[in-house]
Amino acid sequence: MSDQLIRFVRDYFGTNDFIPLHAPVFPGREKEYVVDTIESTFVSSVGAYVDRFEQDMAVYTGSPKAVATVNGTAALHIALKLAGVEPDDLVITQPLTFVATCNAIAYCGAEPVFVDVDRDTLGLSATALQQWLEDNARLDADGICRTRTDNKVVRACVPMHTFGHPADLDGLLRVTCEWNITLVEDAAESLGSFYKGQHTGTFGALGTLSFNGNKIMTTGGGGMILADAVLGERAKHLTTTAKKPHPYEYIHDEVGYNYRLPNLNAALGCAQLEQLETFIKAKRALAAAYQNELSATNLAFVSEPEGCRSNYWLNAVVCEDKAHRDALLETTNQQGVMTRPIWALMNHLSMYENCRRGDLSNAEWMEERVVNLPSSVVIK
Ligand SMILES: *Cc1c(COP(=O)(O)O)cnc(C)c1O
Repeated sequence: MSDQLIRFVRDYFGTNDFIPLHAPVFPGREKEYVVDTIESTFVSSVGAYVDRFEQDMAVYTGSPKAVATVNGTAALHIALKLAGVEPDDLVITQPLTFVATCNAIAYCGAEPVFVDVDRDTLGLSATALQQWLEDNARLDADGICRTRTDNKVVRACVPMHTFGHPADLDGLLRVTCEWNITLVEDAAESLGSFYKGQHTGTFGALGTLSFNGNKIMTTGGGGMILADAVLGERAKHLTTTAKKPHPYEYIHDEVGYNYRLPNLNAALGCAQLEQLETFIKAKRALAAAYQNELSATNLAFVSEPEGCRSNYWLNAVVCEDKAHRDALLETTNQQGVMTRPIWALMNHLSMYENCRRGDLSNAEWMEERVVNLPSSVVIK
């Protein structure tokens, strides 16, 4: 079984050398735009590529406003602050995610609450969310959702679109609306993924993207906040040291952050965004080839949820059990085909092990079985 997979991967990527999980490609005007910033001297916090990158990304995602940041974690930190998350609040998220989701919550002084994922999307489950709220929370007369035992405010909910597959946004919107909890989407992995024709990250009050080197497109490091015009303005202000516009005076009107994306990185982003649809086409072709190749094996390929267009950022399979998973990881990595397990659940990390949580059966099941396969863009 591993042998068939290894042969297929080697053939598809056309090499007998080491095959990484995900490597960036720069087939477009990347070099031209980056050199342009150097020649203009505008490599840092001011420059036309930042504005252009934000505008292009707003158009692509259909978001009223897009604000570039230094990375995706910083974007999520500010998005949560703008969602009103304060120290001591609770923020509901999924245990099956990259640690940045929880760290951003912790930066706000808030505490993550872990609620299970759906097996078909690997994203936060609306049913599990509703169940946790019914078991633990009440909606007070002031419109604020609080826990019944200790009156903690449940301020926000952060689903993550795992590996680019959209979570159940209709369900999550319904539940968060009923309980008056602000929805903030961690769309770091789902640039180019649409749920019922609408871009992920634009359903909640705020959404965030990442352009880290391993994401579907990269700015070296970078992120983006997606929001409406009002929150978008606030995001821009907070991420650029909260400086009041003035011809020469330095007036800052609140504690701001130096989270802006340098122009050098934005130049790379503009060129990569021009290639994004090409990348997604290549990713989807690779996913279809995996699916076809693995159809008669004991590896269940993770495919896009119904009604969605997934970017297939990272391809994944579900093994039969942990022993099967371990064997697959061992053989492939030994033979120079990089594969990785899904993240350890957040409630298994020391800093989050005492956080509140609901029943996490699906996440635990996935933690033991999911393996990511090489997913770099191959333009055929
Ligand atoms: C990549 C990623 C982020 C943000 O990562 P940065 O490296 O800070 O850009 C956040 N959440 C998830 C789920 C991610 O995969």
